[in-house]
Amino acid sequence: MKKNIHFFSEQEFVNKETVLERIGVRGRLAMELAALKLPILPGFVIDADVASDLEDVSLVPHLKKALAKLETIRGRVFGDPENPMLVKIVVSPSTVIATSPTLHNYGLTDETIDGFAKFVGLKFGYHEVLFLIKGNLAIEERIAEFEERSADRKKIQKAIEDVDKELEKGLSVEATKKSIQRYKAFLPDGFFDDPYSQLEMTIKRISRMLILDELDNRETAILIQPMVYGNYGKDSYSGMFFTRDINTGEERLQGEFYQDKFDSWGVPGRDINKIAPAYLKKLEKIARSVEDYYKEIRSMRFTIENKKLWFIDQRAVMAKSTQSDLRTLLDLYQRKVIDDRYLIQNIKPTQLVEILHPIVDLDSVKQLKIIPGGISGAPGAAVGRVYFTTEGLLEAYRSAQHQDMDTRSILCMSATFAEDVKAIEVATGVLSNEGGYAAHASVVARQYGKISLVNNDLKIIGKKATIGKITINEGDYLTLNVPNHGDPSIYLGQAKLIEPDPEESGLMDFIKIVKKYVTDFHVRANADSPRDATLARNFGAAGIGLCRTEHMFFQEKRINVFREMILAESKEERIKALGKLKPIQKVDFYKLFKIMEGYPVTIRLLDAPLHEFLPHNPAEMDAFVAYLNKGKPSKISKKEVQLRCEGLNEFNPMLGHRGCRVAVSYPEIYEMQMSAIFEALYMLRKEGVQVHPEIMIPLIMNENELKLIIYGKRIEGQHIKGLIEVEKEVRKRMKAKAVPYSIGTMIELPVAALGAGHIARYAEFFSFGTNDLTQTTIGLSRDDFNSFMPDYTQFDILDGNPFQYLNRHVKELIAAAVSRGRMTRPNIKLGLCGEHGAVPENIAFCMNAGLNYVSCSAYSIPVANLAIAQYNIEHSVKG
Ligand code: PEP
Ligand code: MG
Repeated sequence: MKKNIHFFSEQEFVNKETVLERIGVRGRLAMELAALKLPILPGFVIDADVASDLEDVSLVPHLKKALAKLETIRGRVFGDPENPMLVKIVVSPSTVIATSPTLHNYGLTDETIDGFAKFVGLKFGYHEVLFLIKGNLAIEERIAEFEERSADRKKIQKAIEDVDKELEKGLSVEATKKSIQRYKAFLPDGFFDDPYSQLEMTIKRISRMLILDELDNRETAILIQPMVYGNYGKDSYSGMFFTRDINTGEERLQGEFYQDKFDSWGVPGRDINKIAPAYLKKLEKIARSVEDYYKEIRSMRFTIENKKLWFIDQRAVMAKSTQSDLRTLLDLYQRKVIDDRYLIQNIKPTQLVEILHPIVDLDSVKQLKIIPGGISGAPGAAVGRVYFTTEGLLEAYRSAQHQDMDTRSILCMSATFAEDVKAIEVATGVLSNEGGYAAHASVVARQYGKISLVNNDLKIIGKKATIGKITINEGDYLTLNVPNHGDPSIYLGQAKLIEPDPEESGLMDFIKIVKKYVTDFHVRANADSPRDATLARNFGAAGIGLCRTEHMFFQEKRINVFREMILAESKEERIKALGKLKPIQKVDFYKLFKIMEGYPVTIRLLDAPLHEFLPHNPAEMDAFVAYLNKGKPSKISKKEVQLRCEGLNEFNPMLGHRGCRVAVSYPEIYEMQMSAIFEALYMLRKEGVQVHPEIMIPLIMNENELKLIIYGKRIEGQHIKGLIEVEKEVRKRMKAKAVPYSIGTMIELPVAALGAGHIARYAEFFSFGTNDLTQTTIGLSRDDFNSFMPDYTQFDILDGNPFQYLNRHVKELIAAAVSRGRMTRPNIKLGLCGEHGAVPENIAFCMNAGLNYVSCSAYSIPVANLAIAQYNIEHSVKG
């Protein structure tokens, strides 16, 4: 028996595997705490080898010996009538899955109750006797169940219910005494006579319970530990705290304490930082050493009984923010507890998305009406005008975009379905009323990085919604506030949002460390505005990998000029309109190059089906006709304009007149863009700014398209200027010295991937446009797939969304293009700029396939860099 009892205390612990295997989860947790050398409650474990075999053992001599050891540390004596030590019994199963009762207050007998009550009061004293009885009833109930004594079991269950009620009510001392008499019928005779036999009897009943439990397989141990009380006079406290703030990660304890109170008796706790300074200091010191040991935030429970501090329990914290995780790791890193590698490998790339979301500025909502409550579907904060249908939202979004107005919108529906995904994609958030975290709206919102709030009181009728007495009309501004921790709410109106602060969150420091491990495979940004480019630089982008120039024409001031250009009936008319666009483009490029000084900037020449730019509703059409006729003596009719627009309609625009195909028909468009690029380049060259332009041609099908665009052609009296010629002209005109630039292409069609060997003769770089490459390889429309994707997911037809995770055949085409391209041009530069570039799961493939970079949206840059660093670390360790 002696070898089956294992002690733990501040001074003593066991770390032998063979023992740890036999003391159950609770035993192992206790040993772990003891190994930390913290002031923990001492105790001992009767291991699983004997725990279920104690019925015939005389336990008292063993218990006397073991308890004597605890008495010395605890400073109180078991069975002492003046000030008794009490103990708890913890059933310690081998896995956490099994739930087992903890039994409290053993040692409370007819003789010791008064001594105990002297310190805690009679009422609490007798309350604890009831508690003790409750523990034994739980064991008896299990035994009755195993022995199939159903009538007994029912009686015991009823008694447990009664005890629970009485415990909750807090009976008077007299009433409690009476109840205790009644419950004695369920306990062995003489249960309150002697403390040792009380403990022995209970342990034996537990042992019986274990032997009867066929599922247990002799795996459970029994742990005995003294009790401590935070209500043992004014120098007693109890409390719980996190080792630091679980929201901000600030190195400040977060939690509550109670002075001379039993915490579960309904009194509010006080801020742990307000506990007497001497204790606070101790707690803080312990918090740091626990964090150093576990390398994470932990939750700690303690009791101070008569000035003596004891740690009861500590565990991992589930509900903590990424920021708090990150700041904990950065602090540990600074204190040299962990190294670069540990830091990098313990933040998941997708976790970073959380600290990149904005939050509501609470100062800005003081005047706004609040609707509290709801379920968090996807955390963050979103502001926008509310729309009740997908069509309504999309229409409003498009029109706001074309008029350069606020495009922020919130989709508000009872529930969303597949056909609403396209609205969620452009909305800032979703407000719905069915389901919760797993509802379609929430799932899709998380997938697209949007905010989702579910409020079950929401009612929608036509173009109105109500929540309680509050009415929301279509087009009203709403703010959805869905914090990571805490309750969600809706504000009527526009709140100010606080953009995430990458300095405060520790992100900037983290990026610096991560980037040490991003060596020869880089992350660039998909950026076409100075704002995005600046953000991307701050987040550590190694240049711009995709500037979609068509995005630069969507603004109100530009769109009508652009429309005028595409609807021009003659080359002269078109060149005139292009002349208006050129200065605007030049300034755009100038700004991007300057922000990205020293880094490559890939400018993609125009790529969009032309009809995308045409007026989408009558108001836009009227505005466009008015623009065309402004100051002109001969007016063009609306009918005529409509006819010209219809002329541009295509049956299958994604495979129609787009990308470089437009330039084959109208070379002057690219010519304008090329000269704007070179003019910006040579202006900056004169200012001494280092610019590395890369000019990229979209949707190439074969090398002949590329050849035409680069070298131009003279045919039948026509002169198409190529890129080389445009550059020379600009350089000459601006009297500038040559600056190296490169010319490359997107690989977005299977035919281009397979013909990469030929295309590489003219392309110095390839950038895989995997959005189109996926669409054209699988034959799935990138814009329509979302509407039927759930059916495909339900039946396991596809391995995840192919527009998120690279499909294996798309990968095959990329691999073919890489090897064929390299055969022709060994030093060809290779990148990937579809949405896939931001998804950590695709990064290993890109690295292995021999690409040089991925390019993704600014907010995804830290995510992708982290995935790369983790890959490099893992492989250098293995290598
Ligand atoms: C692509 O097709 O992957 C790509 C980056 O181009 P876009 O998304 O602009 O078509
Ligand atoms: Mg594309």
